[in-house]
Amino acid sequence: MISETAREILQKGYVCDNCLGRQFGQILSGMTNRERGHAIRTALALEYAVKPFPTEKSNFLGFNFRKVKPETKKEKEQCKICGGLFDSLGKWADEAVKKLRPLEYRTFLVSSSMSRILIRNEENLWEDIGIEYCEPMKSELNRELGKLVAEKTGKNPDEKSPDITIMLDLEKNLLSVNVNPLFIYGRYQKLVRGIPQTKWEMYKETVEDIIAKPFMRESEGKAHSMHAAGREDIDARCLDWRPFVLEIESPRKRILPLRKMEAEINRTKKVKVSELSYSDRKEVVTVKSLMPDKTYRVLASFGKPVTESELRKLKSISMVRQQTPTRVAHRRADMTRAKKVKSLSWRILPKNRAEFMIRGEAGLYIKELLSGDNGRTRPSFSSVLETPVRTEELDVVKIHLPAGSSRAK
Ligand SMILES: [Zn+2]
Repeated sequence: MISETAREILQKGYVCDNCLGRQFGQILSGMTNRERGHAIRTALALEYAVKPFPTEKSNFLGFNFRKVKPETKKEKEQCKICGGLFDSLGKWADEAVKKLRPLEYRTFLVSSSMSRILIRNEENLWEDIGIEYCEPMKSELNRELGKLVAEKTGKNPDEKSPDITIMLDLEKNLLSVNVNPLFIYGRYQKLVRGIPQTKWEMYKETVEDIIAKPFMRESEGKAHSMHAAGREDIDARCLDWRPFVLEIESPRKRILPLRKMEAEINRTKKVKVSELSYSDRKEVVTVKSLMPDKTYRVLASFGKPVTESELRKLKSISMVRQQTPTRVAHRRADMTRAKKVKSLSWRILPKNRAEFMIRGEAGLYIKELLSGDNGRTRPSFSSVLETPVRTEELDVVKIHLPAGSSRAK
C-alpha cells in the first residue's frame, strides 16, 4: 500500500524526502517527515534492487537504484512538490534569528502563508494519491522552521500566546517578525475624583495613563490600552480593587520590574495598583466579561428636609427601569434596561443631606436612580420622596466579584 503510493509519488520526478515522508505523516510515527521519506525511499530501493522496476529510466523513482545511498545523483535537482523549500529552511531560520536579535522574548510561533504555486503542487499531488495519511506542507514548514529557530535561539515555540510571531510569506518570499502585545493583569483603586479611566475629551490625565507610564518607559512599547471590569464615573472614586488588563503594543522588553513599577504607581497617590502580573489576550475577555454587583457610597442632598420614615419608603424600590441617561445618550444607544437595587441603607446628615450605601446590579446608574433623570429612570429616590435628589459624592466601595473570578495565579 505504502509502496504503491510512494511509487506513484516518485513517478512525478524528483521529490525530496520531506515531501515524500509527509504524505505518510499519519503512519510510521516517531519520525520526522524527512526520516520517514528517507526510510520509504530506501525500502523501495531495496525492493527494486532485487526486482528491477520495469522501466528504461534509471532515475525513475527519483534516485539511481544502482546506488545504495538514495538522494545522491539527483540531490541538486529541485523537488517537484516544494521546489526545494525544505532544503532552504536553514536560510530562513538564519534570517529570523537576525531579526529576533534586538528583541526580548521568551516564546515564539512560526506562521507561514504558502505561495500559489506550492498550493497548486500540493493539491495536484493529493488529487492523484489521496490525502489519507498526509500532513499539509504548511504544517510541516511551521514546525520544522520552528525547530530550527528554537535550536538557534534557545527559546520555546508557543502556539497559544507567543511573544513573537515569525511570519514567512512564500508568495512574496519575505520573512518578518511581529512583536505581539504584552498583557499585564492587575487591580486598581482610584483615590481621587475627576480622572476618567481611559482617554476622554479634554481630560489630560487618566487612570490608564498613570498606570501605563512606567510600563511604556520600561518596555519601550509603542502604545497602550486598558481593558477593565467596568468603569466608575469620572467624578467617582473607586475604593475597591478593580481588575484590569493593560495591553502594551510592540514592547522591546517584556521582562519588567513589576514590583518596582507597582511602587512607582502607588506613589502618585491618585491611583493604586496591586497584583501586577503577566497575562494574555484570553484574560482580556475574562476581565471584560465580569459583571459584578457593586456597592456605592453616595452623599446625597434633597430639595427639602427628609425624615427617617420618608426614607424608609425607598425600601420599596427593587427593580428600576432606566432609559439611557441624558448625560451619556450622545455616545450610547438609547434603550431602556431593568436593573436591580439589591440593598439599601442610609444615615441622615445635617443640611438636608444623607449618606446612602447602595448595592446594585452591574450597569445600574446610581446618579439617575437618585435624580430620576427627568422621568427616564423609574422609580427613583426623587419620585418616591417627591423632591429633587442630587448626588454630591459617589464612591464605589465594593466590587462583588463572583467567587473564583478573582485570579488564583
Ligand atoms: Zn520537497
